[in-house]
Amino acid sequence: MTSGSKRWTGECAEGGHLYAVGIGSNRPLARTLGPHAIVEAAFTALDEAPLRLIAHSPIIATRPLGPSSRTYANSVALVAAPLEPLAMLALLQTIERRFHRRRYRRWGPRTLDLDLLLWSGGTVNEPHLTVPHPAFRARAFVLDPLHAIAPGWRDPVTGLTIAQLHARLTRPKPVDHGPRAL
Ligand code: ATP
Ligand code: CA
Ligand code: CA
Repeated sequence: MTSGSKRWTGECAEGGHLYAVGIGSNRPLARTLGPHAIVEAAFTALDEAPLRLIAHSPIIATRPLGPSSRTYANSVALVAAPLEPLAMLALLQTIERRFHRRRYRRWGPRTLDLDLLLWSGGTVNEPHLTVPHPAFRARAFVLDPLHAIAPGWRDPVTGLTIAQLHARLTRPKPVDHGPRAL
């Protein structure tokens, strides 16, 4: 399945695990392979055995976080896999390396960043892996695409659905006019 914004209906892959994978790129791999094309290539990589791509969101262009000045291409994919979370992270890092991901400074330019956002099995708290991804609830470039494909997935930490987390993030904040003059 490679067409954009197919919604996930909630069922899990038989006998396997379902993951929401955050995809980001803001460094071209070659003159002909820019961030948008790299994200498309990542969809293909996330559909190679033993992985199965269940759905992916449209690719969005996002302003960068931190010191980088390049625009990101971002998406979220739902991927079924017969792998436990640590093995899944290792495989995602192997895919990153295939795209020449280097350890630049944090939040600097990168050819491909693959984050484990959610896991159908709940939470993981390991030294090198925290699931759900600790920052996903505060990032519009994650919640917007995730909401497009899995609005009903429930965050095991807050108990809120992605639709609720998305509404919480995008709802206009009340304006604080400061203390009222007496
Ligand atoms: P951020 O996590 O804020 O999006 P980043 O993606 O730039 O930042 P990386 O340099 O790609 O951070 O990853 C640093 C380490 O984060 C990885 O080596 C990995 O061990 C760890 N990590 C912890 N939790 C996760 C997760 N849910 N998904 C991916 N990596 C994770
Ligand atoms: Ca990241
Ligand atoms: Ca990462």
